[in-house]
Amino acid sequence: MSDLEPASGLYAFLTEVAEVLGQASLLTGTACAPYEIDVAQCRGKAAAVVLPRDTHAVSALMRIAVRHRIRLIAQGNRSGLVGAAVTDNSGTQVIVSLSRLRRVREIDPLNRTVIVDAGVLLSELNRQLEPHSLCFPIDVGSDPAIGGLIGANAGGSRLLKHGDVRHNLLGIEVVLAYGDGTVVQLLAPLRKNNTGLDLKQMFVGTGGAFGIITAATLELKRIDQSTQSMFVALPDHGTALEVLQAFELQFGDLLCAFEVISEAALAITLRNFPTLRHPFSQSSASCYALIEIASSMPGLHTIFAQRSEQVLEALYESGRVLDAVLGNTSSFWPLRDNLPLAIAKEGIPLSFDVAFSRSQLVAFRDQAAQWLAQEHPLLQLYDFGHFADGGCHLIVLVPHAHIAQYGIAKIVAVRSGIYKRVSENGGCFSAEHGVGPMNAAYYGKYTTPEVQHISRAMQQLMDPQAVLGRYRYT
Ligand SMILES: Cc1cc2nc3c(=O)[nH]c(=O)nc-3n(C[C@H](O)[C@H](O)[C@H](O)COP(=O)(O)OP(=O)(O)OC[C@H]3O[C@@H](n4cnc5c(N)ncnc54)[C@H](O)[C@@H]3O)c2cc1C
Repeated sequence: MSDLEPASGLYAFLTEVAEVLGQASLLTGTACAPYEIDVAQCRGKAAAVVLPRDTHAVSALMRIAVRHRIRLIAQGNRSGLVGAAVTDNSGTQVIVSLSRLRRVREIDPLNRTVIVDAGVLLSELNRQLEPHSLCFPIDVGSDPAIGGLIGANAGGSRLLKHGDVRHNLLGIEVVLAYGDGTVVQLLAPLRKNNTGLDLKQMFVGTGGAFGIITAATLELKRIDQSTQSMFVALPDHGTALEVLQAFELQFGDLLCAFEVISEAALAITLRNFPTLRHPFSQSSASCYALIEIASSMPGLHTIFAQRSEQVLEALYESGRVLDAVLGNTSSFWPLRDNLPLAIAKEGIPLSFDVAFSRSQLVAFRDQAAQWLAQEHPLLQLYDFGHFADGGCHLIVLVPHAHIAQYGIAKIVAVRSGIYKRVSENGGCFSAEHGVGPMNAAYYGKYTTPEVQHISRAMQQLMDPQAVLGRYRYT
């Protein structure tokens, strides 16, 4: 606070926050550093970090922020991938870390629901649910907070079976950006409620732009008791769709995950993580599928294994599968989970999180690969992702050796070229990571004028003083 003029709005804001929430809830100067950078290395300069202890404190903070018109950025565990949980570089925005809201308020095993504070980490929640044989089934390679999961509407590797956060969210407690710090409590653990507007949806996937979530009611699933994983070598991405259909026919909604990894992506992972082993001693595959069958019903393992072998043998006979190995969950997921880290070790990764209808996914992937090879031969393409959801994580790598040739203009040209092909194939520019500074330019370009208009109007209604969120729908 020392370098601020006592007359400034920010000074008055920080003074009041210290008085009302206590000095221990306020960080300034270098103490803010850990909160100013996220996992994707997006960095900002915050005026301060506020660490409220409960919903009441968040409400008090909101009242002060509205009065002084200070922008608040809600922050979970900073594992978001579009830079939306850190401030800009102006030094005028304030981070609200929900990390002290850490109470699992109420587990109801009969109803299969939990009411949980926004700052509880997914791993901690699942640890507390385990004795009840329950879990929150969103499966991501990071360890997000519940508020961040909702803010980003995370999907993850088991979306095929369980849906995204939206599908598993029953209720919410949220502090609105009104001058009186209104707290809206919609935490009833109901699976059905058609009594009017489903207000909670406004806060899902909108990155803290409409309110600060302080708690949520989540629907829980029984922990899987029978699982079968397999790693399958495939001749091409098109065939992956046929293999997916074959597994859906045989296993129906027991098919839990179907991730596709290109040969190049697997190779770079193995190169950078020497302790990981290639599942096949030799392979001519152009891509691989990591497939998982799962059920919360015990005793199905033998049936899963036998039927998987039958399906794979038939696919092998017809040339659609080149090779396959069966294993348990821990056998193959490290190959998938370490992939982004491995790629980042060899240069600057340009990441794309895009989604299509299944039928357009392969066309997009092939067009993007062809365009890159022609126009940007120095770059490398790695693709992987939640194939069964039509999801594709594409990483275009600028290798260390060519970074000097790739200035900002060329990088923008690569991003624009990829998103152009996404749009031409009916896809969306952000599948599960939301909108933030990393991709905001494409919101303006690829979101329809009608949606933009309504989003602006809603934001005006919900946040008339513009005190919330890193990304504004303006
Ligand atoms: C290795 C790795 C793997 C990943 N895999 C996946 C994946 O498979 N699928 C997927 O969907 N994502 C994935 N992610 C992205 C990320 O984990 C998710 O976006 C996650 O939901 C972010 O949660 P967080 O707590 O870290 O939120 P943050 O990054 O802190 O915040 C995310 C957004 O939510 C807002 N927000 C945070 N808390 C609140 C709150 N209390 N109220 C209102 N708004 C809030 C923030 O302002 C920001 O806009 C992955 C990330 C990593 C690093």
